[in-house]
Amino acid sequence: MSDVATPDLSVVVPCYNERESLPAFADELSRVLGPMRAEKGLCFELVLVDDGSSDGTLDVMRSLAERDDLPCQVRWISFSRNFGKESALIAGLEAARGACVATMDADLQDPPSLLPEMYDLLCAGDCDSVATRRVTRAGEPPIRSACARLFYRVINRISDADIVDGARDFRLMSRPMVDAVLSLGERNRFTKGIYGWVGFRTVWLPYENVERVAGETKWSFFKLAAYALDGITAFSTAPLAFASVMGIALCLVALAFAIFVIVRAALFGDPVDGWPSLMTVILLVAGVQLLCLGVIGQYLAKTYLETKRRPLYLVRERGEGPCARETGDGRGEGDAAGGAAR
Ligand code: UDP
Ligand code: MG
Repeated sequence: MSDVATPDLSVVVPCYNERESLPAFADELSRVLGPMRAEKGLCFELVLVDDGSSDGTLDVMRSLAERDDLPCQVRWISFSRNFGKESALIAGLEAARGACVATMDADLQDPPSLLPEMYDLLCAGDCDSVATRRVTRAGEPPIRSACARLFYRVINRISDADIVDGARDFRLMSRPMVDAVLSLGERNRFTKGIYGWVGFRTVWLPYENVERVAGETKWSFFKLAAYALDGITAFSTAPLAFASVMGIALCLVALAFAIFVIVRAALFGDPVDGWPSLMTVILLVAGVQLLCLGVIGQYLAKTYLETKRRPLYLVRERGEGPCARETGDGRGEGDAAGGAAR
């Protein structure tokens, strides 16, 4: 067992209005971590990040920190407002002190029961990260699934971040990988892409999709679409190249059209009847120009935001509960098992 200052495993959980899910999550987590502590003598910490919740999530966190039946030390960070899941994840990773760190959602859609297997895989030493992937999208609107699939296809084509379709943010990382993720100083954080970009050896664990235990998803279709656009602009400059290619293609079309008009005028004279085709071309070119300007604007906006170097999140308060007791329920279970074996 390592000393208390360096837990063997930190579990980071971003929480936004998760008052109803958090207690169930803590119970399930302790059901899983208890035996791990008893069998292997491991030391855990739970880092809860309150992303500006307005439903009393922070009070739940405080009361969890006071519970002495949990096999982990509970630490919490509360933001001054809602900064988004990406910021909450990064705050949790920065605060985590563990030799390895797991990130997971509070709604039990990332089953804690996978943690022992993930931990064993990581300890086996063949990988730096154990990540999870949903194999089904059951319970999700079909249009959302179709858009998600299209997004993964596009981003993998146009960027060098290897992003796996169905990848969850539920993953266990070794300390070197966590440090690598934290070393990327960009403000516009698209974690799925960052994990792929930093590399390291990753083992994928597939699992069936699970419905959230309580509350509702914080992601509307438009939020997801904006998130997808963020991902593309963060990891690829292909849309800028697309703007140039469109420009060149249109120049070629215009040239061909000009030749056609000149040849037609030479052969058949110059009847003044080109108004509709002229308007069509003007509108098309204007539309493409605006589109390209918009694409460039997206990158300019991102650059502008990056240059401000604003913090990713602001902490209103933080706290921590006492260290998990050395002899808890888990230890008792271990003794009982030992007794049975004897
Ligand atoms: N979350 C967060 N900040 C936000 C939105 C979500 O910290 O602005 C947390 C949320 O509490 C949950 C996790 O991110 O623990 C995933 O959110 P959700 O379950 O709504 O996403 P979904 O599973 O539907 O993709
Ligand atoms: Mg969820």
